[in-house]
Amino acid sequence: MSRSANWPFLDDSRRAGLSQNLDRQVGSLRFPAVRLLTLYISPLFRSRCQLPQAEKQLIAIIRARAASKRRGISTGIGDDCAILQIPTGHQTLVTTDFSLEKVHFRREWHPAEVIGHRCLTRGLSDIAAMGGTPIDAFLSLALPPNLPQSWVNQFLGGLLKLADRFHLTLAGGDTGQSPGGVLADIVVLGSVPKGDAIHRSGARPGDRVYVTGALGGAGATLKLLFSGKKLRPADFPSHFHPIPRIEVGRFLQEKGLASAMIDLSDGLSTDLGHICDESGAGATIQAAAIPLASIGKPTSTVGLEFALNGGDDYELLFTAHRAKRVPARIAGIPITKIGEITRDKQVLLVNENGVASKLKPRGWEHFKGAEPSRP
Ligand SMILES: [Mg+2]
Repeated sequence: MSRSANWPFLDDSRRAGLSQNLDRQVGSLRFPAVRLLTLYISPLFRSRCQLPQAEKQLIAIIRARAASKRRGISTGIGDDCAILQIPTGHQTLVTTDFSLEKVHFRREWHPAEVIGHRCLTRGLSDIAAMGGTPIDAFLSLALPPNLPQSWVNQFLGGLLKLADRFHLTLAGGDTGQSPGGVLADIVVLGSVPKGDAIHRSGARPGDRVYVTGALGGAGATLKLLFSGKKLRPADFPSHFHPIPRIEVGRFLQEKGLASAMIDLSDGLSTDLGHICDESGAGATIQAAAIPLASIGKPTSTVGLEFALNGGDDYELLFTAHRAKRVPARIAGIPITKIGEITRDKQVLLVNENGVASKLKPRGWEHFKGAEPSRP
């Protein structure tokens, strides 16, 4: 949504309608992120659809009010670049994630609002995994020309509702026409006190391995979708509305509890492998200790396979020195010890009979051609 973008996938009447719809929402919106998006988009339309003077004034008022509340950004909406100022003594975290139709989502399975929510979750979860605080997001969106305007509105609604929850500003982006499906790229910026980011590489032999929440819910729900089941998103929140563990990550960083951390976006077997590889260590995990998610209505507990290899849980996997006292809950989220880091570089899973076997990384790996498309 840079100033040069002009939403080419909309004809003039639809463009005008979207502009007016977005501007009309301003009066009822309390959230800076939403206001900023509206302000940011509106100027794009102004030259093409001649907004009424009253709406122009409203935009000017809100823009001024939004500017006074902005904490980190010196310049964002309405210029060629955003100029960012992060808190003194902090470092900037930057992460970028694609959400691609038929790869990360399917429009027939996922409502637009869900796709917007999940799009931002991917970026926020990476900030959480470093122990950071999210500041701004930038969204680049390529949309097919036949996409209904309501889809775009609902997508943005889902994304901005999550942004507001974490006091995040949508500070810019770009739009374009896609020759194929919907393509969304989210960039999230965060901050962390200098030198205090939690890396994947800090695990040491003897450290305990922990996870937040429960695992496998998203993957098990995906299997139901693949089987053709129609699901109510409200009954399967771990798949449709995962909540990035920002508060947990920040707590661990502030208390100096975690030696290494990663978010569980690809699956425990793969993501634990990343920590072990980066730390030059191995791990032994107790299968019986892994918290299994419950999904559906009535609820049912997912199988261990989903907890080990299902992706998209967006929980945190972290390690802590054995002498550290890690709370049983952080920010209301259960924390479970599932194993420990070993000097031997293998990753082992000990089953309920005490038998250990190699835990191979079977989670999501990009561009693995033989696998089905991942929604
Ligand atoms: Mg990650």
